[in-house]
Amino acid sequence: MPKIAVYPGSFDPPTNGHLDVVRRAAKLAGTLYVAVATNTTKEPLFSVEERFALLEKITAGIPNVKVDRFDGLLIDYARTVGASAIFRGLRAVSDFEYEFQMALTNRRLNNEVETLFLMPSQDYSYLSSNIIKEVGRLGGDLSPFVPPEVAELMKRKHSGKGPGK
Ligand code: ADP
Repeated sequence: MPKIAVYPGSFDPPTNGHLDVVRRAAKLAGTLYVAVATNTTKEPLFSVEERFALLEKITAGIPNVKVDRFDGLLIDYARTVGASAIFRGLRAVSDFEYEFQMALTNRRLNNEVETLFLMPSQDYSYLSSNIIKEVGRLGGDLSPFVPPEVAELMKRKHSGKGPGK
C-alpha cells in the first residue's frame, strides 16, 4: 500500500461522496494529500481558497490527511510530494471511460505512479458536485449530500452574503 498518495479533484464543492473516498483512501495510505486542482477548464462556484478551507474543516479529524492545491500536471504534482499512487473515485460505469483514459495517460507520463480506484458507499454513489450546485442554487436542502460546513457556505453564497458575513 502507498506510503504517500494523492486524491486530486476539483471539489467544487466537496461532497459526502468525496469525504467517503477520503476516509477509505486514508486507511490505505500512510499520508494522503487531498489536492485541489486549480487550473481546470471548468468555471468553479467556489474559489480555490474556499474549497481548500472546506476540505481542511471536513477532514480535520483524519490525522494522516493533508489538504493541498496544485496547478499544472497532476503527475508532476504527485512526483513533487513523493506519491506512488493516485486515488480516484468511481461512482458508476459512466465515470469509467474518462478515468480509464486519464489513468493510462498518467501512466504513460510516469510509469512509477499507479492510479487506484475506490468505490464510495452506495449511499453516496449518485452524488455529483454539479447536481448539488443546482440543488443549492434552487434553494433545496443540501444536508443529505454535503457536510454541514459546505451546506452553510453554499447557503450564504446564494443569499448574497459573502463568506464570514
Ligand atoms: P474532477 O473534476 O477531477 O473529476 P471531482 O471533484 O468532480 O473532480 O471529483 C474528484 C474525484 O472524486 C473523481 O475521481 C470523481 O470520480 C470522484 N467523485 C466525485 N463524486 C464522487 C462520489 N459521490 N463518490 C465517489 N467518488 C466521487
